[in-house]
Amino acid sequence: MEPLGRDLLGLTATELVEYLSSLGEKPYHGLQLYRALYHQRQFNLRAITELSKSLREKLSRCSITLPKLHTRQQALDGTEKYLLQLEDGEKIECVLIPEKRRNTLCISTQVGCPLDCRFCLTAMLGSRRNLTSGEIIGQILYVIRDKELRLKSSRPGAVFKLTNVVLMGMGEPLLNLKNVIKSLVIMADPQGLALSPRRITLSTVGLIPQITQLAHAPILPNLAISLSATTNAVRDHLIPVNRKYPIQDVLQACAQFPLKRGQKITFEYVLIGGVNDSDNDARRLVKLLASIRSKVNLLPLNPGKINGLTSASTKRMSQFREILVAKGLSAYIRQPRGSDIFAACGQLHLTEQTCHSPLVAG
Ligand code: SAH
Repeated sequence: MEPLGRDLLGLTATELVEYLSSLGEKPYHGLQLYRALYHQRQFNLRAITELSKSLREKLSRCSITLPKLHTRQQALDGTEKYLLQLEDGEKIECVLIPEKRRNTLCISTQVGCPLDCRFCLTAMLGSRRNLTSGEIIGQILYVIRDKELRLKSSRPGAVFKLTNVVLMGMGEPLLNLKNVIKSLVIMADPQGLALSPRRITLSTVGLIPQITQLAHAPILPNLAISLSATTNAVRDHLIPVNRKYPIQDVLQACAQFPLKRGQKITFEYVLIGGVNDSDNDARRLVKLLASIRSKVNLLPLNPGKINGLTSASTKRMSQFREILVAKGLSAYIRQPRGSDIFAACGQLHLTEQTCHSPLVAG
């Protein structure tokens, strides 16, 4: 391990302890640094006064690199989309969704995405690269700090609490499993970001070997599977990786995924008019999920001029849901958030969208 000049963001407690030990320092200084970074969100090494002056000197060649704000947009429903710029100039998006009792941040795990799902705008970027654990955690830290600063100046005394994180932004989290697991550990650690694992959700197209690996990770998030079809013929077309991991095999891996009491696997189903929204699809979905503790989130296809696909109508969505519910499945229709600023599912794409809401440049 190179002794000096590291970026410290994204290192777990164990890694920070190891790093400080390699510098001849006591392990507990590693834990102090860990708490300072993620719990106190102190990003200026010189200002971490729990550490001795000489240690701060020693660390002075290390960096703590948060992403930089490129632009921030606010939707009419209060959803905020952050376009963040990384060290190498690449850009990623994350979306803050405020609700009555919770604040959810949707974060990215890759720049672009290689999976080429036919209904998703991110696919158009193609495969660029995985995010580091520092870049994954950096999105959360950036947004918390930004919200805290803005709240402080507008309503002194008000506090911002991030309650939920969903790994549902750009990219396929399970293609970046090592860095994702490190980030989950930091998110859930009471000495880190102190989020309950129950409030962290990872969404995947269903990469089977990685689902099995995730099942053995130290932190288990809620699992969401983007299913969006009930036959392999249709799913092969919409989500090409289905050719490698067909529906029945994905569901078998799900059935083996460890769940806590009351916990369910979420199945996301984007309803596309005339493609996957028939009554027969609904009936098949019931059968497919029969032996899995599941709930279904039905999503309209968010507009984005993609391959000529259009959303199922509101009426069709309700009828589809009725069939699921009548057969005893928990099914919900999810209203898209922030679609006027292209912040909704499948709309994250690095182009400047025309929009009529405030745009804040960083
Ligand atoms: N790769 C992961 C996470 C990113 S996509 C995954 O596939 O789960 C996050 C969610 O957005 C998925 O459920 C996906 O099906 C959904 N999505 C993608 N494009 C969409 C669109 N145009 N409209 C609605 N939802 C979309």
